[in-house]
Amino acid sequence: MANHPYAERYGVNRKIPEHGMAREEVLAQLQQMAHDEDAFWETGKCSGTMYCGDHDHYNFMTEAFGLYAHVNALQRDMCPSQTRFEGEIIAMTLDMLHADAIDDGEPVGLVTTGGTGSILHAMLAYRDHARQTRNITAPNVIKPETAHPAFDKACHLFDIEVRRAPIDPVTTLVDVQWVADNIDANTVAMIGSAPNYGYGTIDPIAELSQLALERNVGLHVDGCLGGFILPWGQELGFDIPVFDFRHPGVTSISADTHKYGYAFKGTSVLAFRDKALRNSQFFFLTDWTGGKYCSPGMEGSRSGGLLAATWAAMVSIGRDGYLRYAREIFETAEAMKHIVSSHAELRLMGKPTFCFSFTSDDFDIYHVNDFMRTRGWRFNGQQYPNSIHMAVTRPQTQPGVVEAFEADLADALEYAREHKDEQPKSGSIYGGIPGGMTAEADEFIRAVMADMMDGQMVVP
Ligand SMILES: *Cc1c(COP(=O)(O)O)cnc(C)c1O
Repeated sequence: MANHPYAERYGVNRKIPEHGMAREEVLAQLQQMAHDEDAFWETGKCSGTMYCGDHDHYNFMTEAFGLYAHVNALQRDMCPSQTRFEGEIIAMTLDMLHADAIDDGEPVGLVTTGGTGSILHAMLAYRDHARQTRNITAPNVIKPETAHPAFDKACHLFDIEVRRAPIDPVTTLVDVQWVADNIDANTVAMIGSAPNYGYGTIDPIAELSQLALERNVGLHVDGCLGGFILPWGQELGFDIPVFDFRHPGVTSISADTHKYGYAFKGTSVLAFRDKALRNSQFFFLTDWTGGKYCSPGMEGSRSGGLLAATWAAMVSIGRDGYLRYAREIFETAEAMKHIVSSHAELRLMGKPTFCFSFTSDDFDIYHVNDFMRTRGWRFNGQQYPNSIHMAVTRPQTQPGVVEAFEADLADALEYAREHKDEQPKSGSIYGGIPGGMTAEADEFIRAVMADMMDGQMVVP
């Protein structure tokens, strides 16, 4: 899809229009763009991103959102509804993550703006708690190489040293011995993913939990992707290891409502084993002339609409709904993984779950990606080694999608064999940045990022 297709269609607003555009015209433009863009993923050929894909559910959440969109969730005296929504979102999430197994703390949570928001708040909490209780001023955290870049972002923002633990190239799981060897007196937390974004594999949380207890270090489980689907998969009997608060060393878990919670983009839950950790990062300023100020997280004002819509999603879907969707997703993922494994030239990375990644030892897998793109598929690409991944979501559970995957993949393999001596066209991409870049390409990457913000303004 071109980056600025609308510049020509609608012209470019470089200043606030002198006279307001008629609402019908505004809505007509919005509808046209949304219609065109939705067509891209409604086929079920797009990995991840559209976790729900159900327009009835979207309309329902839009109604819930609309009732509270104008409300500021920061001003609780005016809107006790927000206290209800937030408290119940946290309680329901804690229950799903088996906080009932906790007997050594008081489980609590925080609703944040997304997976990155939850990870940022978790790292801030570990830093501040260690500073307050252990006087640690040069903190470090240890993350598996496969853990999400949001951890590196958090460490960058909060001046925490990040130590990247290697993974086993076959299982793709973190080297626990390396982690153990690299914990020191300044280590405030370790990370494990359930699952990681790239390979969909679940780190050995039981071993990390044991290590966390032995060395008195925090353990954050990144369940941003899996937090709202693995518990249902476990309940359905799929082979999924325990990754939650049932492990006594797990001190916090991030779980994204805006992924498999099927809420709108903009919410996630950060769950804590004990309130002391969460409360250590609360901010308050009591002597400001503007009044006493306090905010539970990094944001100031927040739209009440997001809390309302997230709450509405959870209580309307219910346990039976989440279980039903999870069953469809896991069954679809099993079928797709089976198709991949049926080809001798393809290799699944490790033992993945609902999200899987595959590579080839015979040719560059990006040839497969190149061909699949011509059939409308959009996978996410990875590097070291080159591989492509599919996070199975509800759009893939539609009839015919698995069959299309099977047929298109077979054709893609033929294409890959024919073109194996050429350079593939596609590369590893997350968030729109082309892959295969070296450090010298920093300026190019900055230019691509800047274009997302500025490009619309410079088109003729
Ligand atoms: C999506 C994801 C994140 C980051 O979440 P955002 O919602 O994009 O900020 C973190 N960890 C994992 C494993 C993820 O899949």
